[in-house]
Amino acid sequence: MNFLSQLLPNRATAPRRRKIRGVEIKSAADIATMRQAARIVATVLREISELVKPGMSTLDLDAYAEERIRGLGATPSFKGYHGFPSSICACVNNQVVHGIPRQRQIIRRGDLLKVDTGAYFEGFHGDSCITIAVGEVSAQAQRLMEAAEAALYAGIGQVGPDKTLLDIAGAIEDCVTSYGFSIVEDFTGHGVGRNLHEPPSVFNFRTRQLPNLKLQPGMTLAIEPILNAGSKHTRTLSDRWTVVTVDKSLSAQFEHTVLVTETGYEILSDRTLTPLPQPMPTGS
Ligand code: MG
Ligand code: MG
Repeated sequence: MNFLSQLLPNRATAPRRRKIRGVEIKSAADIATMRQAARIVATVLREISELVKPGMSTLDLDAYAEERIRGLGATPSFKGYHGFPSSICACVNNQVVHGIPRQRQIIRRGDLLKVDTGAYFEGFHGDSCITIAVGEVSAQAQRLMEAAEAALYAGIGQVGPDKTLLDIAGAIEDCVTSYGFSIVEDFTGHGVGRNLHEPPSVFNFRTRQLPNLKLQPGMTLAIEPILNAGSKHTRTLSDRWTVVTVDKSLSAQFEHTVLVTETGYEILSDRTLTPLPQPMPTGS
């Protein structure tokens, strides 16, 4: 074996990574690991939706999520990502995305709370977001939340072989339009896998500005429409992370990590799946 061959990967054992137009097609083993990463995310989000109460701070939720993600053998995908300081993004009411959890941000009855988180497990990320109504919320908030979830599932319903990103986008746009809300265009969904964000951009409205793509089994997508009750326009606060609606209207979002299968799709971050086992108590 010469010097050069020692530097090159062993073709017999090196994992083959197949890509179509820059989008990785995950192997069966990759998918099995991604299922676990996304299940960790789903478990944490379900638990947060059950434990959140008025009077808690968004930092309390962040601490819970980080401990739980680590306890389940993963690391928080968001913490340190481009310098983001936390394990969840927590957004309340008119906050749209990338809200930094804070001790002083107290959750109140009637709030519309968005919690987005990711887990990195054995080389793969899962990514999901939920909107939670804290106690009784306004009729508009309730409807916006329902529309956001309906839009996500309308998009997911288009996922399958030979469908395209435009099919997903069109279904989301038609759903949101039917509710009379607006779609935030400043942010899109994305491929997810070895990287938290990877190709392609999964846009939420019909456009020719972003590349369309035919879906193939083995692609893994984070689909995540963001809906505003008023204007679609957003701005970023001086903390350089938190994005808010320009007109102070409410915003809601749901996100799933979704696998394209031979026959359609599999929602990897499905929160209705069997919970992961509780971690072993320390010291046992
Ligand atoms: Mg997310
Ligand atoms: Mg995402």
